[in-house]
Amino acid sequence: MVSACLLGVPCAYDGRDRRDDRLVEILDAGPVLPVCPEQLGGLPTPRTPAEITGGSGAEVLEGRAQVLTASGEDVTQQYLRGASRVCRLAERAGCSRAVLKPRSPACGPDGHYDGTFTSTLIKGMGVVAQALSERGVSVSTPKDYQERATEGK
Ligand code: SF4
Repeated sequence: MVSACLLGVPCAYDGRDRRDDRLVEILDAGPVLPVCPEQLGGLPTPRTPAEITGGSGAEVLEGRAQVLTASGEDVTQQYLRGASRVCRLAERAGCSRAVLKPRSPACGPDGHYDGTFTSTLIKGMGVVAQALSERGVSVSTPKDYQERATEGK
């Protein structure tokens, strides 16, 4: 499973992609399931950017933190719906590994912005990365995945 924007799908909040050419080259060898959890949760593209406030993906899944847009709209339910749909897809497709876009409040596998919209990164996973991880899917950044692929792991 891979964040769709990393493969060149223009699904990011600004209507653009976040294509990673090196990742696309490596993944070309095998089956890949592209997903955009924000779109799967029902959010439009383009959309107002959002950040987790009051915690990380784990706290959002537990109902103790929210995902808010830069204009203050609460989109927590859309993120939870997206996470649920992504997890169902991962289960049905038998995904054991997910390569996810860093810093995203949904996909971020190793950190995300802190909810102040000041580009301040904090530790913790995005909502989908956390949900997949709790179901035994190994989540990683493109950089980590590329390093492991280079080492033959
Ligand atoms: S939710 Fe994930 S796949 Fe969709 S645009 Fe954001 S980082 Fe990319």
